Amino acid sequence: MRILITNDDGIRADGLWSLAEVAQEFGQVVVVAPDHERSACGHSMTMRNPLRVRPVRHPSIEAYEVDGVPVDCVNVGLTVAYPDGCDLVLSGINHGPNLGFDITYSGTAAGAMEGAINGIRSVALSMAVFVVDAPLHFETAQHWIRENWAFLTESPLPELTFLNVNVPSIDPVELRGTRVVQMGQRVYEDRVERREDPWGRPYYWQGGVVVMDPDQPGTDVNAVSEGFVSVTPISLDWTNHQAVEELRRQLRRRSC
Ligand code: MN
Repeated sequence: MRILITNDDGIRADGLWSLAEVAQEFGQVVVVAPDHERSACGHSMTMRNPLRVRPVRHPSIEAYEVDGVPVDCVNVGLTVAYPDGCDLVLSGINHGPNLGFDITYSGTAAGAMEGAINGIRSVALSMAVFVVDAPLHFETAQHWIRENWAFLTESPLPELTFLNVNVPSIDPVELRGTRVVQMGQRVYEDRVERREDPWGRPYYWQGGVVVMDPDQPGTDVNAVSEGFVSVTPISLDWTNHQAVEELRRQLRRRSC
């Protein structure tokens, strides 16, 4: 199995190498990752600048860093390392959760999204830790990935669909299991904070803290909070098919 691995935390991130190590047990691995952290870049791509690719030395894994974002890494990786295509794109393991609407900002999810657009089986993996500097239990994610490899890589999926996986950052023995769930909602507060520089001029810092994870059973937010790994199939078809029908009815009514 030919596996391409990327992330949005950059080539030096521990989560990236944790993922590469475990994937290596199942196939040929090439790592292509941003040269520095690009978290929350979403599904952006570099178009107006050239992309430089540099080999990265590792004892057993072929690896490259790219001065771009995860989408660039997937496409450059397919050009440089897998010109005949590959069988699996893995993105992560992200240092933090990608739950609910986070997916739309996430560079981790975007890496998997780009894999899916290329017609390749793709999985985004994130470590659901909620407190800054709290321990990241990558060994828990590695253990779970190893145990669930066939489920992750072989379960039939519709076209243009990737898997978004969040592993709670807890001890492996505390993990309660796996739930296939829908995308939930996360509500942020104080999204933009006004601060002042040493000269008294204002600047603004965007981030915000989650104030509410509405407790909706059957969602990724809920599963992770209860100690389960969440697996959510995400479709690249963003159409709201219910709204299509209703809008067509409205159009017919208004145009006659
Ligand atoms: Mn990240």
